[in-house]
Amino acid sequence: MPAAHTGFRLGIDLGGTKIEILALDAQGGERFRQRVATPQGDYDATLHAIATLVQNADRALGARGSVGIGTPGSISRATGLLRGSNSVCMNGQSIQRDLERVIGRAVRITNDANCFALSEASDGAGRGADVVFGAILGTGVGGGVVVGGRVLDGPNAIAGEWGHNPLPWPRDDERPGAPCFCGHPGCIETFLSGPGLQRDHHLVTGQTLTTRAIVERAAQGDAGCIASLVRYEERLGRALAHLINILDPDAIVLGGGLSNIDALYVDVPKLWGEWVFSDRVDTRLLKNVHGDASGVRGAAWLWPASQA
Ligand SMILES: [Zn+2]
Repeated sequence: MPAAHTGFRLGIDLGGTKIEILALDAQGGERFRQRVATPQGDYDATLHAIATLVQNADRALGARGSVGIGTPGSISRATGLLRGSNSVCMNGQSIQRDLERVIGRAVRITNDANCFALSEASDGAGRGADVVFGAILGTGVGGGVVVGGRVLDGPNAIAGEWGHNPLPWPRDDERPGAPCFCGHPGCIETFLSGPGLQRDHHLVTGQTLTTRAIVERAAQGDAGCIASLVRYEERLGRALAHLINILDPDAIVLGGGLSNIDALYVDVPKLWGEWVFSDRVDTRLLKNVHGDASGVRGAAWLWPASQA
């Protein structure tokens, strides 16, 4: 089924609480944006809501745009069914095929971490870089890989999912590590997510603080909070060095709440050389440009200019 070939790209961020659509013109400029609440527990109503947003965008543009969707979870290449979505009524559905039928054009779908990476690689912090790793440091730790402007989407649809690898080069006091929901202890996510930083700080100091409070108190000179951020940066350096050794990206763009810690961009590149198997490291560590808009923007970029 063809896309639209009008030069307009529609990106849809399908989340558990809201569905947002964004229309970009051929130059990447925003032309239309609309947001609705996600129908709860109702797959058919969700399809209908997406179709209505697409119709509204088409009408506003006076043309049919290509359609890309970002959503938690992934489409199984083997079955074509969505899995791992936190909107459980979506799991096990042929959302791509069903949407194509309802809106009458080809649809591309990928997960929200891939959308983040693609958004930043296309016209964000990683613009112009050939290989971009988008690393999300938030409630969880995820990631996506973009090569030459395209999302790397392997047979298991998990490329970039580094959060559930073990923290590399662990010290004795980091083994076996905290339990993780995935079933294994000591995952990168258990150290580098927001809850991971908070747990580590509590373990060492006995204080229960939010991530924001740890960062603010560190800025005011609190020794315990400073030490927690030093441990965090060193672990992030190890985790990213491990990734650089495998992927060797031109740029790593950080997203998620912890990407707002500005010191990371200065300190971590000074640390990661100890573990990168090279005499120098030219990989750039960059703060994201588009923030919360990466979901819709990355979804829109799923169709390259030649096909949109
Ligand atoms: Zn895990």
